Amino acid sequence: MTTEEGSFRATVLTLYPEMFPGPLGVSLAGKALQDGAWSLQTVQIREFATDKHRMVDDTPAGGGAGMVMKPDVLARAVDHVADGRPKLFMSPRGKPLTQARVRELAAGSGVVLLCGRFEGVDERLIEARDFEEVSIGDYILSGGETAAIVVLDAIVRLLPGVMGNALSGETESFETGLLEHPHYTKPQEWEGRRIPDVLLSGNHGAIDKWRRGEAERLTRERRPDLWEAHKAPSKK
Ligand code: SAH
Repeated sequence: MTTEEGSFRATVLTLYPEMFPGPLGVSLAGKALQDGAWSLQTVQIREFATDKHRMVDDTPAGGGAGMVMKPDVLARAVDHVADGRPKLFMSPRGKPLTQARVRELAAGSGVVLLCGRFEGVDERLIEARDFEEVSIGDYILSGGETAAIVVLDAIVRLLPGVMGNALSGETESFETGLLEHPHYTKPQEWEGRRIPDVLLSGNHGAIDKWRRGEAERLTRERRPDLWEAHKAPSKK
């Protein structure tokens, strides 16, 4: 895959390169990939195994179930591509990904994403290569690949020129610290349900006020954690 000067470069270290670009090859992200707004390189970790069985994992020190990815093999794969871009290890123990972190990453030159499999990776690799551990939520996936796809999807849509309607990015959930207001479109009445009158009034002041009120109501009801943070003095 080609890399254009100045475009965002994503490198994914994985045992399953065939999972990429996957969903990232379609729609907005896929078009942006084709247009060179970002580039995607996959690295097969197994190519950095040196023994004759190409072993990438081994039994856990101290015993127990499952296998652990080997630090020496992973380090060779990382060192082959690392060039100062942030290095993220997909991990349920990581800091939950936020829109704020996504924005920071999108403003940089790219990312290197390491996808775990089995029980995870040797802890020394994370320390020695200074990986930031990133979680996409409090549940366990079978591997880091789907998490990496989520991270890249969130980043790519923020890259310059990727989203047609730039404004829609700014009013979305989390960008304001609030969940977004509800949306409606034609027909005006559907299965006996009408679009709220205010949205058909043409009164933009009233519409903005209604949307703001709904955003606050939804955030209060569904995400008290976000609501508290939104009201906190430090956020003003
Ligand atoms: N034994 C680990 C889970 C391993 S799941 C534990 O209990 O914490 C295998 C791999 O899937 C992980 O190494 C990680 O790369 C990926 N993964 C699983 N859940 C994830 C999540 N919520 N966010 C990001 N990556 C995840």
